[in-house]
Amino acid sequence: MQTDFDSLQLPKKFLTKPNIEAFANSFPQTFAEAAKLLYSNHIYLKDDVLQNRIRLASLSRKFHSEADTLTNTIENQCALLNDPATKLFVSAHQPNLFAYSGIFKKVVLLETLKTTIEKYKESGIVNLFVIVDHDFINDIWMRRAQLPSFHHSSGLLQLRFSLDHLKRWAIMSKVPRPPEKILYNWRSEIISWIKKSSSSPSHCAAMVDNLNSFWEIVESAYSKARSYSDFNAFLMSKIINSIWGYNTLFVRLSEMSNVFQNGFQFLISNLTTYTDALRGTEQTLLSQGQSTGVSSTSYDKAPMWLHCNCGSKARLSVATQEKFAFKGSCISCNKELTLDLAPDGSNRPDLSKVISFISPRAVSLPLLLSLDLQISCYCTGKGALGYLTDANAISKHLGIDWPLILAWDSKDDYIGIAQNQALNSIHMKIPEAKSRLQELHSRMDEYETKIRELVNKRTELAKADASLSSILEDLFQLKEEQRRIRREIVILEKAVKILNLRPCILDYAVNFGMAHTEKQWHRHLLENGNLTAPVSFDGD
Ligand SMILES: [Zn+2]
Repeated sequence: MQTDFDSLQLPKKFLTKPNIEAFANSFPQTFAEAAKLLYSNHIYLKDDVLQNRIRLASLSRKFHSEADTLTNTIENQCALLNDPATKLFVSAHQPNLFAYSGIFKKVVLLETLKTTIEKYKESGIVNLFVIVDHDFINDIWMRRAQLPSFHHSSGLLQLRFSLDHLKRWAIMSKVPRPPEKILYNWRSEIISWIKKSSSSPSHCAAMVDNLNSFWEIVESAYSKARSYSDFNAFLMSKIINSIWGYNTLFVRLSEMSNVFQNGFQFLISNLTTYTDALRGTEQTLLSQGQSTGVSSTSYDKAPMWLHCNCGSKARLSVATQEKFAFKGSCISCNKELTLDLAPDGSNRPDLSKVISFISPRAVSLPLLLSLDLQISCYCTGKGALGYLTDANAISKHLGIDWPLILAWDSKDDYIGIAQNQALNSIHMKIPEAKSRLQELHSRMDEYETKIRELVNKRTELAKADASLSSILEDLFQLKEEQRRIRREIVILEKAVKILNLRPCILDYAVNFGMAHTEKQWHRHLLENGNLTAPVSFDGD
């Protein structure tokens, strides 16, 4: 594979052997293993880290006060950040529209670990959720929520927040909340989906009741939010803090730059090692055919974004020959932005004046969380494995402590209204459906060949002026059969899609309610504990 890296010589020590799969396999596979590792983990907090945690507490208090979820238990957790013995468990995600279950499961995993460990240990644990609200609104997952639907030809009901084209490079936290009409339309679409999907009027009424109680918190999150990201983040906080009663602290990444000032200073002071380690890791991974999703030109880029006055931001590269000077063009308005961190030629970068204009890149976030907050554990999803592999390699070269990484990305095994319809329409399970599909596709190929032969024969007969009636009859039969197979394929493919889907949280809210959903996840962790096995939901 030809990459930007090929022409560049790297010192040998940066050509390590990172491997995304091996990295993922190194994570604890069970709840008990994770609890044991975190139980025995001790930290000695640095003074400046304690100051950062105190800053974090005030940012979190601000968020919860604005989300209307600031309770006494949240206040107590904020106060725990003053205590150097407190451990921090962290997960992070973009505030997606009606986010998918994986985001909530990270929080359930950390909270269950926290309560399990706290039973045996005096010192406190704070469970932190970082809202990654500085990403571009362009990302489809931030604006689209998927529900399985047998009544849609695609097999999906998609709720969307559409944007006019010019705003697509705006940062989520700068985009206003959707108009009230959109909220109203989403609800109508869900009601109609429930009506068409449920098996009986009483079943339908129960599902609509579930939706109504969920929608109360949707509307209450909406009423407090000014921005699109706050609307989604407030809803997450209401589910997690209010319905579940968790004391997970939320904080907006867009407000955390001050917390990361020392960490940024450290990474920028060691920029050559940072970029060489990133380049070396990417080079090795790409040579093994593994893509991290990190842009192949990131190696010469800085560990931070630079924000523009227009509401968007720029990737930065090191400006030629000047130390601690960066430049880049704004992704939205194309304005050339520069950042000179040592204008007087000092050998130490000074970020104090510009800190509010910068924010972490995906690769640097886990490093900053470790440097500035000394986190004990970071819970992640599949999508983050690539950049975490990069960050892990950089941490080794820079001597940064690496937190325990946890992932709980397994599928949930449950039959909601749409899954039930899918199963009833095909009368078989996924593996059977898949082999049936294979069989049908090869039959389709056979029919196509037969039809082609008959069509050729018909042309010949027509030329010879012979009778066509018997061949036309055969062709008609074949085409009828082909249509029947095609119909069966469409239904099977749709059902498989529905049964394989990882739906947005609304599917859980409507089918089970949020409280029952949390119980299922919590119970799986304590009773089964396998972090890679599917979670079976019971029906009560
Ligand atoms: Zn701009």
